[in-house]
Amino acid sequence: MPADVVFTNASVFLPQGSAPVDTVATSANRIMAMSLGVDRDLVGDRTEVIDLRGATLLPGFIDAHVHPVAAGMAALRCDLSILPHDRSGYRTKIAEYAAAHPDEKVVAGSGWYGDAFESGFPLAADVDDVVADRPVVLSSHDGHGVWTNSRALELAGIDCDTPDPAGGRIARDADGRPTGMLFESAADLANRLIPAATPAFLRDALLEAQRRLHAVGVTGWQDAGVGIPAFGLTDILSTYLDADVAGELTARVVGALWWTADAGMSQLDGILARRAAAGHSRFTATTVKVMQDGICENCTAAMLAPYLGAAETELTGMSFIDPAELSDITTRLAAERFQIHMHAVGDRAVRECLDALEAAILPNRGFDGRHQIAHLDVVDPADVSRFGELGVIANIQALWARRDLEIVERKLPLLGPEREPWHFPFGSLHRSGARLAMGSDWPVTDPNPLWAIYTAVHRTGTRADPHAIGDGVFDTPLQAHQAIDLRTALEAYTAGSAYANHDDDRGVITVGKIADLVALDADVFAADDIGTVGVALTMVDGAIVHRR
Ligand SMILES: [Zn+2]
Repeated sequence: MPADVVFTNASVFLPQGSAPVDTVATSANRIMAMSLGVDRDLVGDRTEVIDLRGATLLPGFIDAHVHPVAAGMAALRCDLSILPHDRSGYRTKIAEYAAAHPDEKVVAGSGWYGDAFESGFPLAADVDDVVADRPVVLSSHDGHGVWTNSRALELAGIDCDTPDPAGGRIARDADGRPTGMLFESAADLANRLIPAATPAFLRDALLEAQRRLHAVGVTGWQDAGVGIPAFGLTDILSTYLDADVAGELTARVVGALWWTADAGMSQLDGILARRAAAGHSRFTATTVKVMQDGICENCTAAMLAPYLGAAETELTGMSFIDPAELSDITTRLAAERFQIHMHAVGDRAVRECLDALEAAILPNRGFDGRHQIAHLDVVDPADVSRFGELGVIANIQALWARRDLEIVERKLPLLGPEREPWHFPFGSLHRSGARLAMGSDWPVTDPNPLWAIYTAVHRTGTRADPHAIGDGVFDTPLQAHQAIDLRTALEAYTAGSAYANHDDDRGVITVGKIADLVALDADVFAADDIGTVGVALTMVDGAIVHRR
């Protein structure tokens, strides 16, 4: 029988120990045949033969932790995240965006970096001569503040007399005048000026994100917070449901339904109803996302021992949910057959999550939950082997494990030399038998899987990434002993993430599996810098969804 598509001369990424092949044929939505050389029976009048000239053919990447609608919104607004860190480049982009969107009441955007500005932060004066008639409100790349113009300050009613709100700060000059930067909760004062996203805009954002993810080889993902109150998002369950029903969703998506930390068990009925509403064809909502702590840089990640050199002594961060309650929650969710996807950055949060999952797994032995803990910035050595023992997936964002300026200057001093060896301990986790899944956390950081894989392998930054900035980021590995090899990293971003999505029909290239495939433009095992390798073609369910 002739195939629909035949990839030839491919360097096929196969499960370890497979007999070598260089040809993969697909029919309808499945891989129908694999061979060395092209079997003539496979090629009919309507077969497309694609010669990869030695480039790699991979299973589709699956992003195990991503916020695509938020990222798509950022991409459609004034998106500074894709630019080099440069004041004049930002100004040019803002001017172009404002000119192209004369009807928007607010020039809203995100993605700038403080190191593009002399003082480390921008001023209203940096943009006032670019846009004066309308408010400009631009979130920083890490979401911890907004840069505004003077018109935005005026419309938000922020002046010399405005007090700093609880949990926030208005940057001021020597005379007490607001300068245009609003930190943490003070950002809400300006964010309020941005009109709420309409359902149509959210749809466009989802489809733009999907297009960008397909372009970097991503064929499916886990949305790490459907209903998350962050990134200016409203609830996006209906965004996914509508796109799925309309046939616009080409990726396969598992949604992790947001658990509100202080809303207690009474929210469970609503979550059950939301799961029941999903599950049409490509979108299911079989996971619950529980966030247990913050981040190290502002000392909100929960640590076993105090931060070093922090403004307060004996500061150990925040556990968002009391550990006893956390175990009740996970046990109840597992009894309802939910996968649990937890956010844990500090070593105390990681331990609390492992304890809570252990408590949930024991009484629910018959349930193949595949629970996961994401981020894992610091794991206590005593807890490393528990991932493998309990079958808890380590959901890692490998792009972060490099000597970026912010990590070296802000984060490592807070951790200190004793904890540093256990910072992003992917190698230790892998060696101890933990299953790895990989994801990007986009829009927090870039969604290109090959950039993250480069860093997982080298613990340095790829030169392809404009955000790899800092002394030694390209040549001094961050805890080199925590690197993983290229095969392990590729498997984590494909088979590992497929496993985490309960999707056993994807993630490897073998006959009979779903044809979710990515053709690269070079051989990743021969490339000097994997991050510079591009994606030539992305296929989902046997259909080509991206082609360069
Ligand atoms: Zn996230």
